[in-house]
Amino acid sequence: MSHQARIGSLMGVVHNTPRSVEYPTTQGRPMFPSEIFGQNVFGLKELKKALPKPVYASFIKQLEGKERLDKVSVDAIAHAVRVWSQERGATHFTHWFQPQTGSTAEKHDSFLTLGGSLQDPKPMDAFSGSQLLQSEPDASSFPSGGMRSTFEARGYTVWDTSSPMFIRPGALLGTYTLYIPCVFISYNGEALDEKTILLRSQEAINTAVCGLLKLIGENESRVFTTLGCEQEYFMIDRSLYSMRLDLKLTGRTMLGSVPPKHQQLEDHYFGRIPSRVLAAMSESELELLKLGVPVKTRHNEVAPSQFEMAPIFEEAAVAVDHNLLVMDVMHQVAHRHKLKVLFHEKPFLGVNGSGKHCNWSLSTEKENLLDPGVNPEQNYRFLLCLLSTMLGVLKHQGLLRASISSASNDHRLGANEAPPAIISCFLGKHLDEVLDSIEQDKPLKPFQSQLQTIKLGGTVLDLQVNVLPEIQRDLTDRNRTSPLAFTGNKFEFRAVGSRQSPSFPVAMLSACAAAGFLEVQEMLKKDNSKQNQLKVIRELIKMTKAIRFEGDNYLDKWREEAKQRKLLIIPTTPDAYDQLMEEKNVKMLTDLKIFSKPELHSRHHVLMEKYAKDLLIEANTMFILISQVILPSAFEYRKFLSDSVKNLREFDDDPPEKLLLLSSTKNCKLLQSNLTLLEETIQKVQNDPNQAKLACKEIVPLLQEIRKHADSLEKQVADKYWPLPKYTEILFH
Ligand code: ADP
Ligand code: MG
Repeated sequence: MSHQARIGSLMGVVHNTPRSVEYPTTQGRPMFPSEIFGQNVFGLKELKKALPKPVYASFIKQLEGKERLDKVSVDAIAHAVRVWSQERGATHFTHWFQPQTGSTAEKHDSFLTLGGSLQDPKPMDAFSGSQLLQSEPDASSFPSGGMRSTFEARGYTVWDTSSPMFIRPGALLGTYTLYIPCVFISYNGEALDEKTILLRSQEAINTAVCGLLKLIGENESRVFTTLGCEQEYFMIDRSLYSMRLDLKLTGRTMLGSVPPKHQQLEDHYFGRIPSRVLAAMSESELELLKLGVPVKTRHNEVAPSQFEMAPIFEEAAVAVDHNLLVMDVMHQVAHRHKLKVLFHEKPFLGVNGSGKHCNWSLSTEKENLLDPGVNPEQNYRFLLCLLSTMLGVLKHQGLLRASISSASNDHRLGANEAPPAIISCFLGKHLDEVLDSIEQDKPLKPFQSQLQTIKLGGTVLDLQVNVLPEIQRDLTDRNRTSPLAFTGNKFEFRAVGSRQSPSFPVAMLSACAAAGFLEVQEMLKKDNSKQNQLKVIRELIKMTKAIRFEGDNYLDKWREEAKQRKLLIIPTTPDAYDQLMEEKNVKMLTDLKIFSKPELHSRHHVLMEKYAKDLLIEANTMFILISQVILPSAFEYRKFLSDSVKNLREFDDDPPEKLLLLSSTKNCKLLQSNLTLLEETIQKVQNDPNQAKLACKEIVPLLQEIRKHADSLEKQVADKYWPLPKYTEILFH
C-alpha cells in the first residue's frame, strides 16, 4: 500500500545519517573565508600572472571598451587558462550561457585533440583562442520565440570577457570543468539569451547617467549598476519530495491542507538553523566562496523550512551570474545531504512564499550615487539620480510589472505577503519629508528624532546594562509591502520571484532608469545652473508623485487610490507581458538599443508560451494526481468502510462507519466531474491560438476548485490510506 512508502520515507528522515564534510585547513587551522574566496576563479590576478604584459594590457583595454582583442592575444589567454585549469584537474571546458529558460546551459568538450595522422594519431591537450571565443550550440533547441525560423537555426555563444572564467568539480573525484561565461546570439546577432539584454541595459545606464553627471559638472568615465540578490528558498527532505509528483513536475504542492501549526507562532524567523540544513548551507557556501561568490548572510525565513541566503553586492552582470551559481550549487549540494531545495515562489499554500529581493543601485568606481549623504536636501546629484530613476519607473512601470510576472510568482504576488501587482516606490519618512519640503519650498523640519542614536539598556526599563553599546538607528523604517522600496542607499526590487533569473527584472529596472536620466538631461540641457537644477528637481518631485506610496500596499484602499492616480493595475501575467508590446515601451527599449523590435516580439512570444506551458503542465499533473493517486486511495478507504458496514449489519443497523463513508461521497463525485472538465479544458487551451490568456482564465480557477475538494477529502480519509506526504511531514522535521 502506498501509505507504507510514505511512512517509510518519514522514518528515513528520523534515521538519516548526516553527511560530514571536511572544512579546508591551513597551518593546522580552518581557513578563513577570505583565503578560500575565489580559489577556483581565473580572475584578473591570475590573468596578469599568466600573460605577457602587452597581452594583459590589451585585455584590460578590451574590458574598458577601448580595443578589440587580436587573435594572438586570444590564443595566449586560451593557452593560459588551459594551463591554469589543467593544473587544478580540469579535463573539459564549456561555454556557459543563459537561454531564456531561467537557468543556465552548458555543453562540455574535453581538451583532447588528435595530432599526427589518422593512422598514427598523437593525443594532446589543446584549447585554441577560437574555442574560447565562440561555440555553436543548436539555437533551435532553445526558446527563441519564432526567431529561429526568421533568422535560421544557427546560434553562437560568445565569450563574455566581463565575467571571469572559473572551474567547477566534475563527476569524478579530483576532476574539474572550465566554465566560460558567454552570451548567446543568433546568426545575425539577435539576442537569444538573458545576458545580452542585461549587458545592453548596462551600456544604456552608463551613457545616460554619465551624460547627466557631465551636465551638473561631474565628469565620470563609467557608471554601472550594483546588485545584491537576497535569495529565499525552502529546503525539505528529498525522499518526501520524491513522493510528490506535483513538487517534482511543477515545483509546488498543488494539493495539501494547511496543518494546524504553520507559521502563526512566528518561531521560525531567525531561529536556530536545523543542523542538516545548516550542513547543506555551509557546504554550498564553501563551494560558492571558491567560485568567488561573496556569500555573506544565512538565516531562517518566516515559514517553517524556509531560509534565505544573501551575498555582498557586485556589479550587476556578475551578480546575476553569481545568483545563478548560488541556485545551481545549492541544488547540487542539497542532493548530497538528501535534501531538496525549492525555489518556487509558493511551494506551500497557507505559509509565506519566497522572493528574490534585488538590491539595485548606481555607482561610479568611487561611490554610490544613491547615497543621500548627511544632507540629502542639499545633495542635488543624489536628488537628480533618485528622481530620474523614479521618473523612468513611473513612465515604464508596465515593464517592471512584466519583468516579474510568471505563472509561479502569481501565487505570491497579490497574496498578503508580497508586493502586489501595482508598481510603486517607497522612500521612507525622512526622504519623503525632504522631497515635500523642497517641493513646497519650506524649511525641513529638524530631523532630530531620526538621527538620534538609541542607547540600549538603562533607559525605559532601567535594565542597568550599560555595557551595551549605542547604536545608530536607520534613517528609514522598513516597508515590507512595497514592490520597490528605497532602503537607505539603494532600491530594493522586492517583487522579483525567487525562481526567476534576476537578469530580466534588473535589465528592465536599469532600462527605466536610463530613460529617466535621458529625460532629465533634456530638462537641464539649456540651463544647467544650480538655480535651474533646483527648479528641475522641484518639477521632478511633482512629476513623480504618483509613483510614491508610503502606506500599506496590501490594503484594498491602495488599489482604489492607485486607480485614481492612474497607475497600472495588472492582475494577470499575460496582460503584464503585453506591456512589452506597448508603444511607448517599445520605443524606449529600441531607442536605447536594449532590444530590437524582432527581439522584443520574440521575448513576448517566449514568455507567453512559457506561461501557457507551465499551466498546462500543472493541469496535466493535477489530472494524474487526482485520477491515479487521490481517488484510488479514497476508494480504497471507502471499500474498507463499506465492508465494515456490511459486516456490522448483523449487530447494528446504522453503524457510525456509514456516516464516514457518506461524508466522502460528495468530494469524490465533485472530483470526478471536475476531472472531466479539466480534460476538456486542457484540450481547449491546447487548441487555442491564444493559449496563455485562455489558460489564465480557465485553468487557474479550475485548479483552485479541484484543490478545494481534494484538500477536504484529505481531512476525511484515514491517515493510513493517504498516499502523499502531508504538509506537517514535509515542513516540520
Ligand atoms: P537589508 O537587511 O536592509 O535588506 P543589507 O545591508 O543586509 O540590507 O543588504 C541586503 C542586500 O543588499 C545585500 O545583498 C547587500 O549586499 C545588498 N546591497 C547593499 N548595498 C548595496 C548597493 N549599494 N547596491 C546593491 N546592493 C546593495
Ligand atoms: Mg533586504
